[in-house]
Amino acid sequence: MSIPDVTRPDITRNATNAPYWSALSQGRLDFQHCRACGHQWLPARENCPNCLAADPQWQPASGRGKLVSWVVYHKAYAPHLEDRVPYNVAIVELAEGPRMISNIIGHPEGQGLYIGADVELAIARDFGLDLPRFRLQSD
Ligand SMILES: [Zn+2]
Repeated sequence: MSIPDVTRPDITRNATNAPYWSALSQGRLDFQHCRACGHQWLPARENCPNCLAADPQWQPASGRGKLVSWVVYHKAYAPHLEDRVPYNVAIVELAEGPRMISNIIGHPEGQGLYIGADVELAIARDFGLDLPRFRLQSD
């Protein structure tokens, strides 16, 4: 058994998620939807998690969403995060429906955050990646 490298985020690019990363590098957040049942989701999968149909399609998100919940990390559980604490980890529900794990920029300790807060996409270059983060629309 190998020990995972925790010095940076474990991002495995493959044929399934390549469109997701490509869209982010172009300033867009894309999610998948199913032509058979209409379900929409993230992260990328080869089959619809609702009906298992193959060949999901990609579509761009509006970038708007709502804050569902969050936690604040005061301890770094990986070396690459030691200079980041405290920071928040949030669940955001996109206006189109998919939920994703992200961060809310500018509120490291969760101050001013509330459930249902309107958020908007703010793609941030970090760890050599274009990452989907969010800011409060009221900021
Ligand atoms: Zn489906």
